[in-house]
Amino acid sequence: HADTAMYRAKDLGRNKLQFYEHGMRSMQDRRNQLEQRLRLALEENSLKLAYQPKVDVDSGRTRGVEALLRWTDTELGEVPPEEAIAIAEDTGLIVPIGEWVLREACSQLERWRTSGLGELTVAVNLSARQLNEKDFVSRVRHILEETGLAPEQLEFELTETAIMQDPDNALRIFRQLDSLGIALSIDDFGTGYSNLSQLKRFPIRCLKVDRSFTAGVTSDHQDAAIVRALIMLAHSLDLEVVAEGVETDAQLDFIRRLKGQQYQGYLYSRPLPAADIGRLITAERGAGSAGAM
Ligand code: C2E
Ligand code: MG
Ligand code: MG
Ligand code: MG
Repeated sequence: HADTAMYRAKDLGRNKLQFYEHGMRSMQDRRNQLEQRLRLALEENSLKLAYQPKVDVDSGRTRGVEALLRWTDTELGEVPPEEAIAIAEDTGLIVPIGEWVLREACSQLERWRTSGLGELTVAVNLSARQLNEKDFVSRVRHILEETGLAPEQLEFELTETAIMQDPDNALRIFRQLDSLGIALSIDDFGTGYSNLSQLKRFPIRCLKVDRSFTAGVTSDHQDAAIVRALIMLAHSLDLEVVAEGVETDAQLDFIRRLKGQQYQGYLYSRPLPAADIGRLITAERGAGSAGAM
């Protein structure tokens, strides 16, 4: 039986190897396919943005929106943003895609402003790779000029991890953006590679508490303690705080009791196409003026 057992083990091993090789190949195939299709989507201008409201906790009003990439491919279907962004980062496509996102978000905000929706802010997510572009700041300035959006209406979101890849370069860039009037928010705060002595040098307006913590505030005393500490930290540093991923009234109550200023989450609205966000904000305004009359 020893022979048989050995034969089986070898057989099994070979199968495993074949399975592994096959798996690797199809993973690489998928990545190659995604890259080609993403390149095409960019060229054909078929990428889209969804917008999610950032809501004032006290008034319940939308203060601004976050722009989020959406990609539905004719062959691949809806590609999850995390996957699309990962491919874009690996291939360098994130640079032209990031620029498209910025231009599209700024034009949309300017359209909303001129149609009377007021001075909303728009938050655009940045990848570390975009900060390595030598002329990043002048490209941003150019897009603001081109679209007519006021710099005060724009903010960038960056994770701690992205900042820490090259803190000196990031600091240099965000000092320039800050002097233009553009704000910086720290995204997914609490999950990244944090370095508070680095972070304190940055002109930060806002900390965004990662939704993995928000999710547990009413069920997990550690998550509750972390969110409490992050909000207190933001308060003592004079930073605004946004709780991400608020899905229930109980979570919102928790944030409200701790004096968190803003929140985002499915409770108020999922990320939606521009037209739906326009209607949502118009309805808010209507409700407000009706209430005031
Ligand atoms: P993020 O910047 O932290 O965006 C928040 C994510 O949480 C979004 O996922 C949003 O749809 C989701 N979310 C919002 N509220 C809730 C909620 O109540 N519950 C749950 N479960 N999720 C909620 P999305 O749109 O899939 O984006 C994922 C990530 O992809 C973003 O995380 C951001 O890191 C990245 N991303 C998206 N668009 C861009 C972009 O244009 N450029 C870059 N560099 N990254 C982007
Ligand atoms: Mg974000
Ligand atoms: Mg986030
Ligand atoms: Mg995230």
